[in-house]
Amino acid sequence: MPTYNFAAGPATLPQPVLEKVQAELLNFENSHMSILEISHRSPLYTHVYQAAKQNLLNLMHLDATVYDVLFLGGGASLQFTMLPLNLAHKHHRVAYINTGHWSQRAIQEAQKIPGLTVDVLASSENTDGTFTTIPEIPEIPTDTYDYLHITTNNTIMGNAYYELPDTSTPLVADISSNFLGQEYPFEKFDLMYAGAQKNLAPAGLTIVVLKKSLLDQVANLPSMLDYTAQSQKESALNTPPVFQVYVANLVLEWLKNLGGIEAIAQENQRKAQLLYNCLDNSQLFHNKVAKAYRSLMNIPFVTDSKELDAEFIHAASQAGLLNLKGHRLVGGMRASLYNAMPYAGVEALCHFIEEFERNHTN
Ligand SMILES: *Cc1c(COP(=O)(O)O)cnc(C)c1O
Repeated sequence: MPTYNFAAGPATLPQPVLEKVQAELLNFENSHMSILEISHRSPLYTHVYQAAKQNLLNLMHLDATVYDVLFLGGGASLQFTMLPLNLAHKHHRVAYINTGHWSQRAIQEAQKIPGLTVDVLASSENTDGTFTTIPEIPEIPTDTYDYLHITTNNTIMGNAYYELPDTSTPLVADISSNFLGQEYPFEKFDLMYAGAQKNLAPAGLTIVVLKKSLLDQVANLPSMLDYTAQSQKESALNTPPVFQVYVANLVLEWLKNLGGIEAIAQENQRKAQLLYNCLDNSQLFHNKVAKAYRSLMNIPFVTDSKELDAEFIHAASQAGLLNLKGHRLVGGMRASLYNAMPYAGVEALCHFIEEFERNHTN
């Protein structure tokens, strides 16, 4: 019986990538050392790092003279702090849009920075604390904010942006959970960050893609928290996560061979549509996110009974459909359909949903 891992992160990785990691694990590039053992100062690693950086910029159609890529530790969560420390030095005032739990976390962490004013310009929070849309953004006065922060895909609530805000304020985004899975005009962003464990690599790596023009502007930040210092040292100010960068590069190569973000985003549309159709046709299961804002990547759903939800999650895992339990904040179920989830996995889930419904009605 095939099994499918619907976890939100750490999440499923492409099978061919895992097989290549396994095949190369004991002897990387004929060095007679494992990738797990090599120095981050060795040409073996420098080559991997340079390739990963270039592959990423190519896939996003970004110009390497305009954008830099940083490979950092600390998760997307550390970016909640690094971002205002590095970018909020002119107006000391930043704008956020609240579209879910991770937006709220980003706002809370920014609020801890001394001397910084954090304005939440719009929120799509419903009175019961759920999020089912993306809000309208008010006209933003020019030259007032150091940046506008959005969360492109809300991993827990399952709502996502399809249109980016149109603003002269520098646009920055937590793009962790639809990074490389959904198409955007990436050149509209001044900075994007993503924890790798959703759609790229094992946990322990954070990607920051930023305009080089944002560097060299603040003095005296602690080095590890300083984008400029990290950039100058090619993300190896301290020992970088070598293995994670290596896997990330294999995933980027895999994606390139599949036809890039355009091709995978179409496939992700097809996968998500299949599951949304199956939920919308069901009397028992529902997804509550407004259709125009439904995530391609994370699809929460519920029955009207907690007991039935628990029974479903248990029975699904017995049938090889793993990690469908929803986030503890919202309960119910959640299917994460990242790039590496095959269409067959979503078909299997839909068949299971239909069969479960047949067995639990009339
Ligand atoms: C998972 C997630 C985070 C947290 O990522 P860490 O790497 O664990 O810090 C932040 N934002 C979004 C949108 C996420 O999905």
